[in-house]
Amino acid sequence: MLLITPPLTQLNTPYPATTQLLAFLKSKGVKAAQYDLSIDLADAIFSKNFLSDVLTENNPKGHFSIHRDSYINLVEPVKEFLRGKNQTLSQRISSRQLLPEGPRFRNIEDLEWWFGTLGKTDMARHLSTLFFLDIADYIRDNVCSHFGVTKYAERISLLLPQFTPLDDELKKEPNLVDVLMLSILKEKIDYFNPKLIGFSVPFPGNLYAALRCGRFIKENYPDIKIVLGGGYINTELRTLCDPSIFNYADFITLDDGELPILRLIEYLQDGRTPLLRTFICTDGEVRLLDNISDSVCVKELPAPDYSGIDVEKYLSLMELPNPMHSLWSNGFWNKMQLTRGCYWAKCAFCDTTLQYIANYDPSDASLFVDNMQTIINQTGQTGFHFVDEAAPPALLHKISEEIIKRGMVVTWWTNIRFEKSFGEDLCKLMAKAGCIAVTGGIEVASNRLLNLMNKGVTVEQAAQTCKNFQDAGIMVHAYLMYGFPSQTEQETIDSLEIVRQFFKLELIQSGFWHRYAMTCHSQTGQNPQNYGVKRVSLKPNPFANNEVPFIESVNCDHDRLGKGLEKSIYNYMHGIGIDEHVSSWFDFKVPMSHIPPDYISKLIFGDRKKMKNR
Ligand code: SF4
Repeated sequence: MLLITPPLTQLNTPYPATTQLLAFLKSKGVKAAQYDLSIDLADAIFSKNFLSDVLTENNPKGHFSIHRDSYINLVEPVKEFLRGKNQTLSQRISSRQLLPEGPRFRNIEDLEWWFGTLGKTDMARHLSTLFFLDIADYIRDNVCSHFGVTKYAERISLLLPQFTPLDDELKKEPNLVDVLMLSILKEKIDYFNPKLIGFSVPFPGNLYAALRCGRFIKENYPDIKIVLGGGYINTELRTLCDPSIFNYADFITLDDGELPILRLIEYLQDGRTPLLRTFICTDGEVRLLDNISDSVCVKELPAPDYSGIDVEKYLSLMELPNPMHSLWSNGFWNKMQLTRGCYWAKCAFCDTTLQYIANYDPSDASLFVDNMQTIINQTGQTGFHFVDEAAPPALLHKISEEIIKRGMVVTWWTNIRFEKSFGEDLCKLMAKAGCIAVTGGIEVASNRLLNLMNKGVTVEQAAQTCKNFQDAGIMVHAYLMYGFPSQTEQETIDSLEIVRQFFKLELIQSGFWHRYAMTCHSQTGQNPQNYGVKRVSLKPNPFANNEVPFIESVNCDHDRLGKGLEKSIYNYMHGIGIDEHVSSWFDFKVPMSHIPPDYISKLIFGDRKKMKNR
């Protein structure tokens, strides 16, 4: 079997699904391999050959016409620099004399202030990233409208109640990027000669590519069977009844892929083994077989297997000069899960009715650290991203102790809940064990709404927890939310003021505002009346089902507020405008914040701060 990550995912590190499945399948004696088509497509696009072709054929005007040769000649050296090689180039890049500066460079401010005089390598990485983004924008505008650096044709797949719009797009002749992708795919199929190909589709931005590849395989290799699975499928396609997608794939599995794929392989061999959590299509009818939650326990799963992953190919990008924000795109992170599911599983906006959140299954600390060592031996990399829904504090405690006991020198970051258990001692222990950053939801930053959404955390607790991380030298990223049912404009402005104070006190280093979306698998989607709102329809769509429209109970134009919230956070992450009044981010009148300007400071410093000020 060949497991493929279809384009495009992040460029700095492979998406972890295939590494986990590969390890499991091999442990069961299956002959399997994995292939990251995503990084190879990116490699082929950001190349001298491809750029020479597109910049010649498209006859560019303006900036790209003037700097055509520079782009063609510089793309390979800059790519090598972003791969951590060719480091001597950093001086020339940071001098700003080498790279052509296209539209993405327009907004850069005082680089010396951001990076200091010593941070030349980071500055060069930032400038090289902008150079790549300019190329990506050119490709999107002139070659293939679907292209984005870390996503492909996402726009079509974001909201797909019916399969038809995607089907229509897939029936068109392949564009230049598709052609490149399919030629790489062909080479790999000829090399591996698989009987079954599995595409992991984690995000909407991978669906088009997976199906485009599926169509190519069906037309050119009719004996190969195709199976789809992954995060996108698990949330969006649970009630699939449109058979058209089966023109591009033979099987679609739900939830943890290990057992369904193992059963499928056995079924393809003997024709008898019953399938598990697998959609099939017979005579135009879609059926979901054995939809039960039989899974392999985390403690029985082997360490992810990185064989076939070429670590040297991944690119470390830095779009914003913010050390916390850049963790997502900068550095090769071995990805692991401490647990499957969430130990809390109660937040009303989260998909808590789905198995991947609701079924909590933790690792054993000692086995987990053994697995970390196994992965280091494979990749040669000591950085880890624990991609948990919410890492449990007690397990982090044990794992930190285990890492320290073994004298391992590793660097890691993970997602947590800002709960009380992250006291001073635990945060310091985690830092000693190599933790450099945590991410977590402060969400609406309002106690009324945090209580309504059953987050189990208060603003005060979150502030104290962030302070403990700050004291231990661990960076914090906050997931923020606006537009939760019943949230008023006043509450959104107040929550922005709280966020401003978190930045001012350096309790968080980065953040992101998400517009609340009601999903059909969340408590809000299943019982909207408990949140004072009403769903527009309860009828499922024939294709994707995830976000559902609802009727608000308050008169608040949340979308109007979104722009100002985004602008504020972008500036706060650059250390700009932190002392400005929060209303200054909006180009229309908003209510004054009701939160006193020293609210968070008083909470966490109390009298100590007062004494210091005196
Ligand atoms: S939002 Fe996070 S903490 Fe809350 S239930 Fe979901 S995974 Fe758990």
